[in-house]
Formats: sequence, structure tokens, C-alpha cells
Amino acid sequence: MSSVVENFMNYVVAKNPNEPEFHQAVREVVESVMPVVDATPAYKRAKILERIVEPERTIMFRVPWTDDRGEIRVNKGYRVEFNSALGPYKGGLRFHANVTLSTMKFLGFEQTFKNSLTTLPMGGGKGGSDLDPRGMSDNEMMRFCQAFMAELFRHIGADTDVPAGDIGVGGREIGYLFGMYKKLRNEFTGVLTGKGLNWGGSLVRPEATGFGATYFIEEMLKTRGEALQNKKVAVSGFGNVAWGVALKMTDLGAKVVTISGPDGFVHDPDGIKGEKIDYMLQMRASGRDRVQDYADKFKVEFHAGKRPWIVPCDVAVPAAIQNELDENDARALLKNGVKCVCEAANMPVVPKAVHLFQEAKILFAPGKAANAGGVGTSGLEMSQNAQHLCWAREEVDMRLKQIMERIHHTCLTYGQEGTYTNYVKGANVGGFIKVADAMLDQGLV
Ligand code: GLU
Repeated sequence: MSSVVENFMNYVVAKNPNEPEFHQAVREVVESVMPVVDATPAYKRAKILERIVEPERTIMFRVPWTDDRGEIRVNKGYRVEFNSALGPYKGGLRFHANVTLSTMKFLGFEQTFKNSLTTLPMGGGKGGSDLDPRGMSDNEMMRFCQAFMAELFRHIGADTDVPAGDIGVGGREIGYLFGMYKKLRNEFTGVLTGKGLNWGGSLVRPEATGFGATYFIEEMLKTRGEALQNKKVAVSGFGNVAWGVALKMTDLGAKVVTISGPDGFVHDPDGIKGEKIDYMLQMRASGRDRVQDYADKFKVEFHAGKRPWIVPCDVAVPAAIQNELDENDARALLKNGVKCVCEAANMPVVPKAVHLFQEAKILFAPGKAANAGGVGTSGLEMSQNAQHLCWAREEVDMRLKQIMERIHHTCLTYGQEGTYTNYVKGANVGGFIKVADAMLDQGLV
């Protein structure tokens, strides 16, 4: 089997040179699904694998805008419409200096299977810009979003492609993007998710990725007769996802003891709770992109230039960005007795570290399963928009929990290896089969 995988990867690398993140994401899926493809002649005949790794459409555009000093600035804009077998393209927009075509394609590819796992009718897509939003004023961000939408609007729509937020794109940016779309199209539709509550947004959407990951961890722990109560949790990042994790973990009796930023990590042994969680929102809004402010304010340890994985914990939740947890981090976590590692960001754990966790037979959840609560709740926002009504908080939260339980169940169904559950395999195979079967049903398009 491994030579079949290598041959296929050679084909992918040759067709998509200089795209390391994309190769990494494809390899992880192909390693899991190759036995299924091999055993299914219809998939082979229809060249499902070759088709599924090729985006249906890739849009790249210029985003010219003017900063507050009157200087003209030029950024790259992207929307990768990866797969629409299950529904309109769906996935976030990322504004971050390290955005490239490779990161956009890896994220769009992951999104396709993640969205499939939610069981909601959503295809996969991703977009964004290499914009570095640090230090930008409100007005600059508004002008940038308007310039970005001045091109994107012609490619998206409530039944075509529905973007949302991701790193660097939160409620404020979605507002500016939505305003411009509405003006250009002269229509008020659910073309973006993550909207403000009083103009078409859904309750629980801001918290959803973090809540969903926490529900998923709860399900994983249950398989080993354990619960979240009194667990020590190390989290990385301090953005939307880390915030949602901190809220729900605290709610369920666990203690979040770390958060991190580009400047280092904070260790708060008493637990990040109450006003400290609210302060995370302030740090984010400040646009300073650092967590030392938290340590200074609450008089706790700050470790400059370090990552939180050296802190002993029961559960580790990487919630920042791709490839942020490497082999050395994995060894440190295992040495300190970690029981569960859950990717709340997209692909934060490098492949060698994933293998170390799996060899040690600890619980390991891939992002496309564990962080699907964000896009899952975006799917619920789309349903509410289509019905022109708003559901109560309890209703959205209950549906989110059910989505996460179903994804967990899918992982158990396809990921069993003896007594160990390989959640990576479970998520990849479970997500893949639905997309592949839909592609077969819809013919060669
Ligand atoms: N950016 C989030 C993700 O990676 C959410 C996407 C969405 O809501 O469409 O899944």
C-alpha cells in the first residue's frame, strides 16, 4: 500500500510544486483512504482521488487599498473553491502574513472533509489574503475589506459559495465584507456566516469552534471512562478558538492553565476563568498580537519565545495555527503524562508528532473532526437565514453538541484498529466516502 501512496504523492507534488502545506494535508488523507479506494473499483474507474485533490476553481486577485497615510498598498486575494459535491463551497477567510496559495489549498482541502463530517449540506472552500492586520486602524480594515469584496462578490452567493471568518477575520471584518457585498449586489442574503446577531448571525457561532472541540474531547475521554472534571488543560493561541475552549472547559469543571501568542506563553496555574477569559477578547481587539499583557495584568508567569507544551497537563489543545506542535513538543507532552491531544486549529500538529501520539496510544483528534463545530454552526446559521428566523441559544448549542457527537461516532465507525481508535483514519475515511459517493452520483463534472 505504501508504494501506491508514494506514487500518488509523486503525482500530486509534480502537479502542485512548491506547496508543502498542501502536500502535507493531501498525504494525511491519502494514507488513510488509499485502502478504501483500492477496494472500490468504481472510485478507481472514476478517478475520484485524482479529481478530489484538484480544486474545482481557484480565484487569485489583486487587492489594492490606501492606508491612513495615503500610501497605496497591494495585497494578494484568494478564494479556492475546492469541492461542491455536498453543497455550496463553504469555509473561512484568513488574513495573515503567511497566507500563500499552498496554505489556501491545504485549508480548502481539509475543509471539504471537515464539512462532510458535519453531515450538513456544505462543500469545501477557503480564501483570504497575505495581509498582516497587526496595527491596522478600523478605517484601514474597512477599506481593505471593501477592496477585497469589490472582486470577491462576483464569485460568491448564498447558494454558490459562503465564506466566513478564520485567523484575522472576526465579527468586525465580516461586517465590513457583508456591507460591501450588500451594496454591490443590492441584496440582503446569508452570503457570509459569522454575522452580527442583529443582522442575520447565529447565537453560539462565536463560541462554536471552541465549544465543539471541548464536546469532542468529552466524547473521547468517555471512551476511556474519564471526564473533563478537574482535568488540567494546556491551550495555545489566544484568539476566537482558544477563547471558546476556555469558556466551555471552565464550564465543565476543567482548568485551562495556558494560552500563547507569537511572543511566548502564559502559565496561569489557578486557571483562566471569569474576567480573565473576558480579557482574552480585549487582547484580541487591541490588535497587539501578544499575550504578555495578560501575564502583566494578572501577575502570572510569562515564558518569552516558548510554546506551552512543556507545562504538565492531561489534555493539550493546539488552537493557533498549522504546524505549531512538533516532535519535541510531543515528546515533552508524553513525558509529562498527557492523555489526550485535540487539534482545535487546522493541522497544528506535524505528522511525526501525530505518529508519536498514536504510537503511545493516547487519544488524538485531528482538526477536521474536532474543530468542525465552527463550520457546523455556520451551517446552522445558513439554515436560520434560509428560514428567515433565529433559533434560541439552547437550540443551537444542542444541535452543535449533536453534530460533535455524530462526528465522534463516525470516527469510531471508521477508525477502529484493534482496541485503539485512530481518529485520523476515522475522520478521513468517514469524510471521504460521503464526498466520493456524491461525486460518483453527479457524474464527470
Ligand atoms: N474557519 C473555520 C474553519 O476552519 C470556519 C469556517 C466556516 O464557518 O465556514 O472551519
